[in-house]
Amino acid sequence: MDIGFIGLGNMGQPMARRLIEAGHTLVVYDTRNDAVAPLVALGAKLASSPQDVADRVETVMASLPSLQISAKVATGEGGVIHGKRIKRFVDLSTTGSRVAAEISAALAKKNIVQIDSPVSGGVGGANKGTLAVMVSGPQADIDVVKDALSVFGKVFVIGHKPGMAQTMKLANNFLSATAMAATSEAVAMGVKAGLDPAVMIDVINAGSGRTTASDGKFPQAVLPRTFNYGFTTALMLKDVRLCVEESKTLGTPNDVMSAVLDQWELTNTEFGGDTDFTAIVKMIERRAGVIVGKAGSK
Ligand code: NAD
Repeated sequence: MDIGFIGLGNMGQPMARRLIEAGHTLVVYDTRNDAVAPLVALGAKLASSPQDVADRVETVMASLPSLQISAKVATGEGGVIHGKRIKRFVDLSTTGSRVAAEISAALAKKNIVQIDSPVSGGVGGANKGTLAVMVSGPQADIDVVKDALSVFGKVFVIGHKPGMAQTMKLANNFLSATAMAATSEAVAMGVKAGLDPAVMIDVINAGSGRTTASDGKFPQAVLPRTFNYGFTTALMLKDVRLCVEESKTLGTPNDVMSAVLDQWELTNTEFGGDTDFTAIVKMIERRAGVIVGKAGSK
C-alpha cells in the first residue's frame, strides 16, 4: 500500500526500510536530510513537509521524539491535518494517552482517524521485525493497516479508545526503566563487594533476577562500556514521566514509579539527554565509587 512515513530516526529508519522491503510504496519526510537519504536510495519518494506527505497518501505513519513534535506534525501549521488525501494517522511514537486523545480529537474534526501504535523492542527489534506493536483505534482502520504494521513485529490490538495503546506502552516501559535502574544498583553493590560484574550478570540470567536489562542491555552495552543500545536518556525520562502522570491521573499507586523517575532525572541532569539510556549505570557508579565493566575498563 502507499504509506507516508515521518520521522526516520533510530526507530523510524529501520521500520520504514522494512515497509519498502515488504513491497509498500513510501513517501518520507524528516527534518534531517541525512535521515531521508538512505530511504530515497531504496526508492522512497521525498516530501517537503508533513502536509506534503498527507497530500499524497491516505495512510501516514510517524515515529517522533517528543510530544510537542508529535502534536506539531499532526495538527500544527504544515501538519498532516492540512493534507488533502490523508484518512488515517498512525502514531508509532510514545506520547502518553492524554496527548494521543488530544491529537485524535483534533484530527477527528477533519475526518482523519488517529491510530495509536507505540512499539517496544528497541532498535534491534525494529531492524529484525520483532517489535511488540500495540494498537488502539477504530477497528475498520486497524484492519486497513494491520498487514503493514505486522512488518514491524507482533501486532496487539489493545482497544478502540484513543490512548489505550499508549497506556499499555507506558506500563511496559516503566518495567523496562525499573529493570535498568534496579540492575545498575544491584551490580554496583556486588562490584563494590569484589564480585565480577560479568559473572553477576551470568548468574542473574540463569536465576530469578533476569530481566531485559540483565539479558540484553548489560551484556551488549554496559559490560563492554559501549553505552550504545540505541535509546536516549531523554526518551526514557519522557516515558517514565508520562507513566507517573498517567498513574496520577488514574489515581493508582506510583511509589515505585516515582522512585524510578528520580533516577532518570538524575541521569539526565548529570550526563545529558542525548546519552544512551544505559548511562544510568554511570550515575550509579559515581555514587558507589566503582566501575561496572570488564576488568581494566573505565
Ligand atoms: P530519534 O530521535 O532517533 O528519531 C526521531 C526522528 O524524528 C529524527 O530523525 C528527527 O530528525 C525526526 N524529527 C524531529 N522533528 C521532526 C519534525 N518536526 N518533522 C519530521 N521529523 C522530525 O528517536 P527514536 O529513538 O527513533 O524514537 C522515536 C519514537 O519511538 C519516540 O517516541 C520513542 O519514545 C519511541 N521508541 C523508541 C525506541 C528506541 O529504542 N529508540 C523504542 C520504542 C519506542
